[in-house]
Amino acid sequence: MDERFWIPKPTYIQMCALGELSFPLETGGMLLGYVADNRDVVVTAIIGPGPKAIHRRYGFVPDAEYQQAELSAHHLITNGRETYLGDWHTHPRGSTTLSPVDKRTLTRIARTPSSGIAEPIMAILGGGKENWDVSAIRFIGWKRRFPFNRYDLAILIIQLYE
Ligand SMILES: [Zn+2]
Repeated sequence: MDERFWIPKPTYIQMCALGELSFPLETGGMLLGYVADNRDVVVTAIIGPGPKAIHRRYGFVPDAEYQQAELSAHHLITNGRETYLGDWHTHPRGSTTLSPVDKRTLTRIARTPSSGIAEPIMAILGGGKENWDVSAIRFIGWKRRFPFNRYDLAILIIQLYE
């Protein structure tokens, strides 16, 4: 179960730069790419927050219209090979672990068929001021356990690639 989260080094640097730009407020966007046959997640590009995004000290609301347009364009230029994988956002001066709100967001993406991904990823950039760290968490399905519907999350191994 050593599933990996592959991200190009320039893309990771781009995320950190966006984090710096909004620091100490949160920022984020979408992860684009594909899932390999061995279930590894391969990020090829990201989408940034968009001009109408709302950045708060604890919270971030993306510019949905911008995101959708960028996603459609990326889908088109890759002949549908690269799609939406999940979301990313920063925790300025914070850790790379998911907050309760982040977990709710991730489960909502998982149960929204139109998202196109049943096992979405959430990447968190924690820290800041030129010292970021990143984690990637994958939703891996519902488990019915009385009295609650529970779900499992998996921490992916981060792999930067050239
Ligand atoms: Zn968060």
